[in-house]
Amino acid sequence: MAEAEFLKTEKEIFTEYMVSNGLRKTPERYAVLEEAYRTNGHFNVDMLFELIQKRKLRVSRATVYNTIEHLLKCGLITKHQFGETKFIYEKSFAYKQHDHLICGDCEKVFEFCDPRLYQIQSTVEKYLDFKISQHALNFYGQCNKLKQTGACEHFKIKKQ
Ligand SMILES: [Zn+2]
Ligand SMILES: [Zn+2]
Repeated sequence: MAEAEFLKTEKEIFTEYMVSNGLRKTPERYAVLEEAYRTNGHFNVDMLFELIQKRKLRVSRATVYNTIEHLLKCGLITKHQFGETKFIYEKSFAYKQHDHLICGDCEKVFEFCDPRLYQIQSTVEKYLDFKISQHALNFYGQCNKLKQTGACEHFKIKKQ
């Protein structure tokens, strides 16, 4: 994909949001948007900050934090909190709809997608005359791999 085309629509949405909220359209803010969309899966503020630093971009942690709040407000990312863990985020524009399984042992967050949930959603909408704009479905438990073998790649990563 050509660099100019990369995140074209996402950048337009963000630009429109910044203009209508009187925010300055700084390269730092766009850098946070780009990194959030380059990252596959979930991230937290620290992870995103480190990734941006690796690209030798000078963006402060406060700016990363701040920009994430703006990206949330304009719907470009979503925020989750699973159990007691700190907030994690993920891109939400043109990204597959999915729900989560959270392992209490290794803290790995698995994603799954089941179209039957959308059938439930539209049935409920019709039945209760309601327009659903979002939903959250989280399953908590233990991954079998860690329980059976005493080790899994996620748990090892966490212990390091
Ligand atoms: Zn696990
Ligand atoms: Zn997810």
